[in-house]
Amino acid sequence: MNRLAILGATGSIGSSCLSIVRAHPDKFKAAALTCASNVHAMAKLIKEFSPELAVVMDEKAADKLTSLLGPHEKSTQILHGQEGFCQAATLPSADTVLLAMVGAAGLAPALSAIEARKKIALANKETLVMAGEIVMAKARECGVDILPVDSEHSAIYQCLAGNRISHAKKIFLTASGGPFRDTPAENFSNITLEQALCHPNWQMGKKITIDSATLMNKGFEIIEAVHLFGLPMEMIQVLVHPQSIVHSMVGFCDGSIIAQMGKPDMKQAIAHAIAHPQRIELEGNFPDFASMQGLDFFLPDTEKFPCLDLARQACKQRGTLPAVMNAANEVAVQAFLDQAIQFIDIPVIISKVMDAHKTIAKPELSHILQADAWARQEALSRIGELKENG
Ligand code: NAD
Ligand code: MG
Repeated sequence: MNRLAILGATGSIGSSCLSIVRAHPDKFKAAALTCASNVHAMAKLIKEFSPELAVVMDEKAADKLTSLLGPHEKSTQILHGQEGFCQAATLPSADTVLLAMVGAAGLAPALSAIEARKKIALANKETLVMAGEIVMAKARECGVDILPVDSEHSAIYQCLAGNRISHAKKIFLTASGGPFRDTPAENFSNITLEQALCHPNWQMGKKITIDSATLMNKGFEIIEAVHLFGLPMEMIQVLVHPQSIVHSMVGFCDGSIIAQMGKPDMKQAIAHAIAHPQRIELEGNFPDFASMQGLDFFLPDTEKFPCLDLARQACKQRGTLPAVMNAANEVAVQAFLDQAIQFIDIPVIISKVMDAHKTIAKPELSHILQADAWARQEALSRIGELKENG
């Protein structure tokens, strides 16, 4: 039995993981579940999965959650806050930790889970964007494998299996292109929140859906790949592939290319990560190749999607700059979700914050956390300026 600690259990990835647990009760048990503040959803999960531990963001949410539980659910311990999340990530009885909370909040539990030598299934890419060097160094020091859940990185991992990384010459990182792939640049100033939240191929949480619409998500994924596979950024080519059937490809020194394919369903990548090195049965079938019109690949338009080059710049400079970019992006995306700024303002805010930052070259964790806090403040004041100037 593989006992799972699922951080971000009420989210898109967390829910997909729990559907796998539901389908394979002989293989998986939900030992710990966490969420921010959706206590009603968490109460339902506790009733269904009887985890040993459940963690929510703050004391108020913990009290509310406790009040929603009946006498049969009292065996689940309820904790709250960062310390609680880290306890879930290090729960002694858990074998595997799925890190599927959103944003910078995922970093501390990720480091705790690695230190506790858990098997890591990593969905929270912000962790690697912010502190990739520190996280990967800690994983090497602790002898911990990080199994990627991001579909592109799961694909690359699977393409590399049985091959030497030194034989890889090129990574083809595919992108759906998001909802504005074919929208002319001149229409970008009219993009609404509703349009941006409508992703053509994937059902995801709101933040990553906006990141996909700006292509910042793909920029994050370049950085994620650099850290996970220890490859130079120059080896990674982003290819827009609207059908999302090829989840990514690796080109080798002999000219051979291995692609990993499947329908766009995150359950495949989640199952790969939590069951590894086994493979488990999943419902759903293969793409219907015979009735496909074709598979398309083309280069992204970096003028329409400046976030891609911002991420490349951060990746090249390293140090504290990627953490600053990540924090500014979180604040800008939240402001767009709150309808305080426009879609086209997102890269403008991030770029201004990055330009104003004095990068620390070889940061310790404390420098990264300071840079993150600084960038949030800076982004908020840039948003304030933008609103003042109408
Ligand atoms: P989501 O918004 O659907 O769910 C996020 C989960 O994290 C929820 O359970 C929420 O309660 C919890 N959470 C939010 N803020 C928190 C905080 N500050 N502290 C603790 N918990 C918090 O997000 P998602 O789409 O499931 O994505 C989760 C992570 O996985 C993100 O980092 C995302 O980039 C990554 N990812 C998602 C997908 C996808 O298909 N959804 C694909 C690849 C990678
Ligand atoms: Mg992805």
